[in-house]
Amino acid sequence: MLETICDTLVEAYKRNWITSRDGNVSIRHHDRDHFYITPSGVRKQTMQPDQFKKIKLIDNISAVPPFMTESWQEEFYTDISEKLKPSGELPLHFGLQKKMGQHSNDVRVVVHLHPTYCIAAMHAGIELNSLAEDFPELSRYTKVAPNVGDVPPISEELAYECHQNLRLDKDGFIAYDIVGIKGHGVVAIDTSPWRAFEHIERLEHICQIVLASGKIL
Ligand SMILES: [Zn+2]
Repeated sequence: MLETICDTLVEAYKRNWITSRDGNVSIRHHDRDHFYITPSGVRKQTMQPDQFKKIKLIDNISAVPPFMTESWQEEFYTDISEKLKPSGELPLHFGLQKKMGQHSNDVRVVVHLHPTYCIAAMHAGIELNSLAEDFPELSRYTKVAPNVGDVPPISEELAYECHQNLRLDKDGFIAYDIVGIKGHGVVAIDTSPWRAFEHIERLEHICQIVLASGKIL
């Protein structure tokens, strides 16, 4: 599936949903104690599977509350990836990959991109969560979380706010498929790279329609 992630990034680049070095994706299989994440700063339209970073999940057990906390460490994957750093949005991905919630018997893919019309709609003051009322086709397949406000990129704050708005719980369950970050992008989650991509595509299409209508507020 790493190759499929590369294909989705090529498609995202073609659609102008990212510039060359933007965007990041992680993937975890439920029976593995590690996940893969795109490296920082590489050109996503020429990204290769051997460039991914392998991140091992570790349980830290202590004698004091909360007794168990999770953390991560980088593991060797390939010679090429060894020279690269993981995406700066690693805290965002880690929070969503450490427990898999409704995807506990499957695969979880987390995709972060910068789709044009989603970002334009949030910039125009549209709450993406409210679009479901006027566009039932959107809510049939994609549950949209309330927007995350202005938070700095690659920050713990961005990760925390996205987790909060997706209603991520301690077992990894999420109540939504996608969340928008104002002035920045979106994060979508599903069981395959293309399924996560489709949440973004669906929301992007509706945002394009709304902006074309000129009826914004
Ligand atoms: Zn971003």
